[in-house]
Amino acid sequence: MSSSGKKVLGNSADGVAFCGPERSCDLCPRLLAFRQENQNQFPNWHNAPVPSFGALDAGLLVVGLAPGLRGANCTGRPFTGDYAGDLLYPSLKIFGLADGSYGRTADDGFTLHGARITNAVRCVPPQNKPTPQEQTTCRPFLIDEIAAMPKLRVLLALGRIAHDAVLTTFALRKASFPFAHGALHTLPNGLILADSYHCSRYNVNTGRLTDEMFHQVIKSLLDLLPR
Ligand code: URA
Repeated sequence: MSSSGKKVLGNSADGVAFCGPERSCDLCPRLLAFRQENQNQFPNWHNAPVPSFGALDAGLLVVGLAPGLRGANCTGRPFTGDYAGDLLYPSLKIFGLADGSYGRTADDGFTLHGARITNAVRCVPPQNKPTPQEQTTCRPFLIDEIAAMPKLRVLLALGRIAHDAVLTTFALRKASFPFAHGALHTLPNGLILADSYHCSRYNVNTGRLTDEMFHQVIKSLLDLLPR
């Protein structure tokens, strides 16, 4: 991968350099073009790779798919302003993993505790669908992120694409760890990969995922996280 899109964003608690995509990342031509289109149309929006939210010393990393056009791509914070955030953020709060009042903006003062949120693909894709090539190109950022989280115990994959991104990150076979809502996979490196259906508008409106089902998944993680 070209190093042009990478930027050292800081150090984790144990001093590991953490890299994320810089604002001008140009590694995915289609995503760059879409960002520029949105920049022209909505100049006050974030319209750039969306940085992860939460501290690097968290025990839980929630992995989403990609920023939504009018949500995270607009506000600059994962899931913020997206329909999916309306379920995700209050659910984290119910189980003590977040605090404050979720206000659908990046400056709402909402905080995460022991949790961090990222996306498998950092830029908004047209029609919410990143290509396999874009997923591959963006994966090094997920690899760096995981490596920079010294207390990480659990990765919560929201949907199959996030689940597959985590497995590929660890060079694990998908057939050995099939995606299933509510599943807890113990990976060879000792980390737990937890699966949930994505808390998207489509999944919620079709009844594939209810609030209760989502809460159950988060609840099942609590004993696995560092105190
Ligand atoms: N917003 C995000 O940031 N990620 C998702 O996966 C969905 C909406």
